[in-house]
Amino acid sequence: LGCGLLELVKNVDLSASNTLGLAARAQSVLCIDNDASLAAVCEAVRGHGVQRVLGGGSNVVLAAELPGVTVQVQTRGVQLLTQSAQARVVQAQAGECWHDFVQYCLAQGWPGLENLALIPGTVGAAPVQNIGAYGVELAQRFHSLVAWDLQAGRVVEMGLQDCQFAYRDSVFKRAAPGRWLIVAVRFCLPVRWQPVLDYPDLQRYVDLQGVASDAVEAQDVFDAVCAIRRSKLPDPAVLPNAGSFFKNPVVTREQYLYLARTWPDLPAHAQAGGFYKLAAGWLVEQAGWKGKRVGAVGMHERQALVLVNHGGATANQVLALAAQVQASVQQRFGVLLEQEPVVFS
Ligand code: FAD
Ligand code: NAP
Repeated sequence: LGCGLLELVKNVDLSASNTLGLAARAQSVLCIDNDASLAAVCEAVRGHGVQRVLGGGSNVVLAAELPGVTVQVQTRGVQLLTQSAQARVVQAQAGECWHDFVQYCLAQGWPGLENLALIPGTVGAAPVQNIGAYGVELAQRFHSLVAWDLQAGRVVEMGLQDCQFAYRDSVFKRAAPGRWLIVAVRFCLPVRWQPVLDYPDLQRYVDLQGVASDAVEAQDVFDAVCAIRRSKLPDPAVLPNAGSFFKNPVVTREQYLYLARTWPDLPAHAQAGGFYKLAAGWLVEQAGWKGKRVGAVGMHERQALVLVNHGGATANQVLALAAQVQASVQQRFGVLLEQEPVVFS
């Protein structure tokens, strides 16, 4: 690969490139490394159009046949750009593995991303759904990013406002698939670091280790997040899945109070603007789906929010089960669950 020498590889098997383990073939794949240029990419895809960008495939549902060009970003590298008394700005190339990047930052003494440890996928995909876990979301640690606008054929630098981050959402998730190619992401990491231990699981784990609250270090948080995730979540390498299949619904205070009258145990967290975030996993479990299997697919026995492929599932089976779960939650609670993974067809 190199400028002007990008090659479109035809008929590529992507079954090992998506964590749901769906059998899928791309008509053609274009891999982009550090030597590729925007001009070369535009030239390579001219006449075909980029249909989609694929990272680690951990938040997608792939159809069996994917027409047109699928772009995979394999750019690598991490760099400390600036450091002041308040913050460090660290840039990572889009093809870096997210978890390795978090670990690398910790090893350099740059804390701030530890709550987001062990989220599968690439750095380039992280802004797409504003990844979040254990009380921290990417937007809180975001500085800017560099993207290629493949529709307009130009390089753009985007700041916090441009990305329109929201709960597991951004301008990239809403845009036409394949419009933006994120090539590098810059993070703003605090020099005066404070642990974020709001989530009960995390606090409990740290307490159990006997670490005093004022002595907690970023490595302790990282270890806790990794241990909790390993104990709760199915490993896609063992039981293929795409993580949480639905977002936690956010409802009005009136709707929450109405539901809580019938279901006083309903877990909910107050949000800005008087809204309430409900635990989608609880809703799915109460609707009777925890551990339930429908043919090749099912909802996980420990985490009702995680849709799993027991073997040989198709995108249609995945989406049919998701629709059934949505319908029964809607019928029981009057709440519409929004799907989190992106569908590629
Ligand atoms: P892909 O699945 O390949 O793509 C996802 C989307 O990003 C697609 O729309 C794709 O077009 C786009 N995209 C990918 N790369 C680029 C790029 N370079 N430029 C432009 N667009 C791009 N998510 C969370 O938020 N929090 C969690 O705690 C979490 N836990 C998970 C646990 C498990 C077990 C699994 C399987 C998934 C989990 N996820 C979680 C979802 C997923 O890991 C994240 O959304 C992740 O950021 C997806 O990265 P990816 O590289 O696999 O992206
Ligand atoms: P959990 O800790 O059992 O909590 C259940 C739900 O309650 C979570 O969805 C979380 O919302 C919310 N919550 C808990 N404590 C909260 C607090 N102090 N303030 C606000 N909200 C709170 O959740 P879990 O299922 O084991 O997952 C742990 C974390 O990993 C969560 O942040 C979850 O989003 C993340 N995760 C995400 C995926 C994915 O694919 N998207 C997969 C696995 C885990 P939030 O989800 O909004 O944080």
